[in-house]
Amino acid sequence: AVLARIDEVEGDVQAYLTVTRDEALAQAKAVDEKIARGEEIAFLEGIPGAIKDNICTKGVKTTCASRILQKFVPPYDATVVQKLAAQNPVVLGKTNLDEFAMGGSTENSAFHPTHNPWNTDCVPGGSSGGSAAAVAAGTAVWALGSDTGGSIRQPASFCGVVGMKPTYGRVSRYGLVAYASSLDQIGPITKDVTDCANILNIIAGRDEMDSTSIDSVVPDYTKSLVQDVKGLKIGLPKEYFVKGMDPEVEGAVKAAVKQLEALGAEVVEISLPNTDYAISTYYLIAPAEAATNLARYDGVSYGERAEDAADLVEMMTKTRSQYLGEEVKRRIMIGNYALSAGYYDAYYLKALKVRRLVKEDYDKAFKEVDVIICPAAPSVAYKIGEKIDNPLEMYLQDACTVPLNLAGLPGISVPCGYNKDKMPIGMQIIGKALDEETLIRVAYTYE
Ligand code: GLN
Repeated sequence: AVLARIDEVEGDVQAYLTVTRDEALAQAKAVDEKIARGEEIAFLEGIPGAIKDNICTKGVKTTCASRILQKFVPPYDATVVQKLAAQNPVVLGKTNLDEFAMGGSTENSAFHPTHNPWNTDCVPGGSSGGSAAAVAAGTAVWALGSDTGGSIRQPASFCGVVGMKPTYGRVSRYGLVAYASSLDQIGPITKDVTDCANILNIIAGRDEMDSTSIDSVVPDYTKSLVQDVKGLKIGLPKEYFVKGMDPEVEGAVKAAVKQLEALGAEVVEISLPNTDYAISTYYLIAPAEAATNLARYDGVSYGERAEDAADLVEMMTKTRSQYLGEEVKRRIMIGNYALSAGYYDAYYLKALKVRRLVKEDYDKAFKEVDVIICPAAPSVAYKIGEKIDNPLEMYLQDACTVPLNLAGLPGISVPCGYNKDKMPIGMQIIGKALDEETLIRVAYTYE
């Protein structure tokens, strides 16, 4: 049925870069036969889902939506893919993204943009726009995304689905193609909070292949699927409800918070005073780490290599010039600039200090409240092409999502209504480190 749905709408939505149709059908048939034989099946067995194309899948192309990796077939599975495989779900294919997850609209894919299923003239958000659009369009039942500065939560919000960025280290990054290693995290994009809890149950946990993964017991997240927010303290950060925020988005999020209040939660205004600096901080740290991580695409170890180079340096220069996209090059240049001698202290080191201040704002707030609620994005999905020529305006769109990546905290986006044009709006719930349980409880109660 899902493959039929792909035939029906994928031409308009274009959520996928690769559909592994034959493998998916064979897998589904095998599960059918197992059921016919009366054998027991695993929880996720046979349930079709999709994986963002920056997560390595053994034997299946993993391009990061970049021409430099257009033929790259990983020899191994990411840990999350291995963990899912133990449940034998049907994997339908790999979803589109902004090249190397750099962007917020999926327009930076080197291959094609993805269209928002609610209005195909609009972007699906990004960078996990393919995953969010697939779940929204019914061309996948669940999907994995990655979130460095909002890439799960913002597309979930734009496409009217649920998306969670777990605590940094809750889910292994082994096999996730690195963008900014101190910020990247894999998480689920699903139709509802129940599915989110179920996928998180499978992918969470310590992995010895990722030394930054946290060694702490993984609770059963489905136990948090309870409708109860009585006595819970919700903080509304005043810095997020400021000018620049679409009034319809603000209205929908505030109405959702009112509903939680009616269900017994206590709502207080809080302040996260360094919020204003989060964008500048993120757009130094993320490019700095990206510049370092992407140094490996040199035409030698991975991917494409330019022809006709006279020597090694020319080969590397030509390869990177020809096969990397504009936004990726921009970030590599910003990152290398911020890291270079003479500028390091003024930019990169300063950014690290401000990162600490942003984190301390949250530490202080969480002494007083259990969760923080704000919009997942300052607007609803905008038109394809509307912002792509203005990188700075694009970066400002990330104001609601990047602060918690800097602090390593978990956040979830849940649909909380529509604007007058029937475009979905997402409410973001932010929690304490490793407290995904409370996020799930609040999101589930609201949903
Ligand atoms: N939009 C942000 C960026 O361009 C976040 C991307 C992400 O989370 N991967 O960096």
